[in-house]
Amino acid sequence: MAILETLTSKDAIALEEKHGAHNYHPLPVVLSKGEGVFVWDVEGKKYYDFLSAYSAVNQGHCHPKIVGAMVEQAQTLTLTSRAFYNDVLGVYEKYVTSTFGFDKVLPMNTGAEAVETALKLCRKWGYEKKGIAENEVEIVVCENNFHGRTTTIISFSNDPVARKNFGPYTNGFIKIEYDNLTALEETLKDNSNVAGFLVEPIQGEAGVYVPSEGYLKKAKDLCKKYNVLFIADEVQTGIARTGRLLATCGNCSCADKHCSGTPEVKADILILGKALSGGAYPVSAVLANDDIMNVIQPGNHGSTFGGNPVAAKVGIAALDVVKEEKLAQNAFDLGELFRAELNKFIPTCTVVNSVRGKGLLNAILINDTEDSSTAWDICMALKENGLLAKPTHGNIIRFAPPLVMNKEQLLACVSIITTTIKTFEK
Ligand SMILES: *Cc1c(COP(=O)(O)O)cnc(C)c1O
Repeated sequence: MAILETLTSKDAIALEEKHGAHNYHPLPVVLSKGEGVFVWDVEGKKYYDFLSAYSAVNQGHCHPKIVGAMVEQAQTLTLTSRAFYNDVLGVYEKYVTSTFGFDKVLPMNTGAEAVETALKLCRKWGYEKKGIAENEVEIVVCENNFHGRTTTIISFSNDPVARKNFGPYTNGFIKIEYDNLTALEETLKDNSNVAGFLVEPIQGEAGVYVPSEGYLKKAKDLCKKYNVLFIADEVQTGIARTGRLLATCGNCSCADKHCSGTPEVKADILILGKALSGGAYPVSAVLANDDIMNVIQPGNHGSTFGGNPVAAKVGIAALDVVKEEKLAQNAFDLGELFRAELNKFIPTCTVVNSVRGKGLLNAILINDTEDSSTAWDICMALKENGLLAKPTHGNIIRFAPPLVMNKEQLLACVSIITTTIKTFEK
């Protein structure tokens, strides 16, 4: 369509407004190109991307290795469905399971689908291996979680916007406070129908809440004690985002120095998505060992596109890039630098209260009420100054650039952020 070549930002926004469902509230910027840590709008203005498509583009926009693998496979074989075998899926399955240290993987497409898959797997394990009576399995989840937007997942969300008028809801979930081991133990102790505990290692959407040191390890130990599966949703925190290959990293073969020496918190069920494809294609995965995954039999679960040859090739390339370019190490180092720089700045300003995060998953807390527009206004000003970020909940701004950033670029971004925020001083 020739119309695309002459489209201005205003035109593009008007088209979406008129013809698209209003299920998002985007920043008014229309992007037409991306490369590495940069994106360009249709008028040619260049920006640092500080959202990375919610941590899907960890490997940087249009990484040549990932795009190359995708194009090559797309010209050879795109989809067979799982009615037949293909010559790429098994290779990918071997690679992804050995990378993360699990016996088996169940390939899906989106993060929400992978969470759904993990819940079904956990329930079936609860009946067939733990011996819970039919229809009695419960799964423990955390308050302020974000695991996607399907009917079952929003059933255990406590975000009113995601829930209201989408009932009736799916039963079988118990919600407890995040980062509260006492609440977890009390729930597990009194309830032998619990089959799993679903948790985000850092609550990203909720505003980058980092739990107390040791929380994940102790939660895993409690799960073990009560024969409950520890299910880690690493859709956002995984694939090097937090400075390690996984935020729950322990028993994996990523060979980055921040892995050894950290306590092993190996999930019983690991959920990956987003950067598993470097943002090139929808690729998600559920990983588990045989004693769990083998409860799934032909016909129990599936997806026409899950595990397709393009996804498999893209997944291999995306993980290769993370390893070859030592992105976990880079995220760790730049994350330390980012928080150190902002912690120098924060005492000199009244607009920002604090910075928190791990690796390159960080957020700043704006010194204003949750319903104020300050965070949005700051993001609009950052956009004018060439940096794209988005508020999470009200007065929190998440900063998550691609992990292929270098130190000079990061310092330039810190400068944009601090200069912009200074203009909001009253
Ligand atoms: C983004 C996200 C999901 C959902 O992934 P989609 O691909 O958007 O369905 C699930 N869990 C977490 C922690 C996420 O950040």
